[in-house]
Amino acid sequence: MNTKNDTIVAIATAAGSGAIAIIRLSGPLSLETALRFFKRPNMPLSASHIESHHSYFGSLYHNDRLIDEVLMTWFKGPKSYTGEDTVEISCHGSEFIQERIVRLFLESGVRQAQPGEFTLRAFLNGKMDLSQAEAVADLIASQSEMAHRMAISQMRGGFSNEINQLREKLVNFASLLELELDFSEEDVEFANREDFVRLLEEISIKISQLIQSFQAGNVLKKGIPVAIIGKPNVGKSTLLNAILNEERALVSDIPGTTRDSIEDTFIINGYSFRFVDTAGLRESTDHIENLGMARTYDKIQQASIILYVCDISTMDDKAINAMLEEFNTYIRDENKHFILVANKIDMMEQLPTHLREMFDLDSVFVSAKRKENIHELTDKLVSIVQKTSLDSGVMVNNSRHYEALSQALAALQQAESGFKSQVPSDLIAIDIRRVLYFLGSITGEVTTDELLGTIFSKFCIGK
Ligand code: GDP
Repeated sequence: MNTKNDTIVAIATAAGSGAIAIIRLSGPLSLETALRFFKRPNMPLSASHIESHHSYFGSLYHNDRLIDEVLMTWFKGPKSYTGEDTVEISCHGSEFIQERIVRLFLESGVRQAQPGEFTLRAFLNGKMDLSQAEAVADLIASQSEMAHRMAISQMRGGFSNEINQLREKLVNFASLLELELDFSEEDVEFANREDFVRLLEEISIKISQLIQSFQAGNVLKKGIPVAIIGKPNVGKSTLLNAILNEERALVSDIPGTTRDSIEDTFIINGYSFRFVDTAGLRESTDHIENLGMARTYDKIQQASIILYVCDISTMDDKAINAMLEEFNTYIRDENKHFILVANKIDMMEQLPTHLREMFDLDSVFVSAKRKENIHELTDKLVSIVQKTSLDSGVMVNNSRHYEALSQALAALQQAESGFKSQVPSDLIAIDIRRVLYFLGSITGEVTTDELLGTIFSKFCIGK
């Protein structure tokens, strides 16, 4: 990845035409390049007239040919997104105009930006750390309130602060340890061993918590997996359709949430839910699939919430008790939530009152076919998530961070056990340096070009 301090240009708004598009220049020649083409007939502008963080209305000309009327905004570095001199041109959003303006700038010697290069520069210029830069990509990709909230929190640096604090504590201690190594002939101890062990324990608890939050965070970001299980013909597919139809109406004003593009994911109250193995569920209507235990077990494994559906209209008390017993065998996993969905209530003249009493577990009575009480079910889904999620503070939602934390923890545990078994300080110092390295790789204190290349190439051009 090219990280030179030259001037780059790219369209910052989404591909295609729109009312307005923004073209961004960043680097030392930004203003000079823009002003070469930007004119205000009665009030010529020169670089010295232009104030930072001000917008100027005018026209872009190529030779004497008008290309567009535009708004030019000037951000003098370092007070800009990238930390460099930056110009943003808001033009009319025709693809032709956008391309034409970019070409104009390219022809005058600036370079087309690579994916994520603006954000890379922001990182290299110390405007944000690496995890914050990654959060920018997450923010752009966020499709639900929860994904959005996590990205915002990470962008504001909550997670980085936590990592930096851990790192700082360790750095202090590590330097004492290294000092001992310098005086190794004299057999002195600058670092109190008990304090050190306590510190290592404290840090490993914190890192473990962050590691654990990854699964929860990831689930929230991608959609909470929900499995619908039950015997053939109890109405599983009908129920899925009822839920999707119901909620589709709610999300129809959000672009991109058509059935095709989000694959049976739906969003209620800002939480996104994703159905596990829904293709399998559809097949089940053709009786291809029986309630194969292995298959059901698989679905249960993958899901956080399980909807166990039964056809209550055909069941007498004995059958219900047998089913409840079977159902109870499933509810062993404390990390999963089960909801018993008693379907086809429309087939019953009246819901016998004792039925509800038999179901002392989390249950709803619905008619999937007539879409009755589906809201009661979706409300339950939301309340489960609200109860379990994330008031717990900082969450890890990025697999790179998860990986680095896991490596840091392993090195930390090695240092801890090294201390306990009186391993020489120089070996422990190596473990501690590894912990520092892995923690530092999260925020970008330590990076390699390769790592930066991998991260920023996933960005879109113009960000
Ligand atoms: P699956 O095998 O569990 O996926 O069951 P389906 O969703 O394919 O439904 C099996 C049959 O039950 C179909 O004929 C559905 O129309 C019917 N069905 C599903 N839900 C209801 C309901 O709430 N009431 C009634 N009366 N029929 C239903």
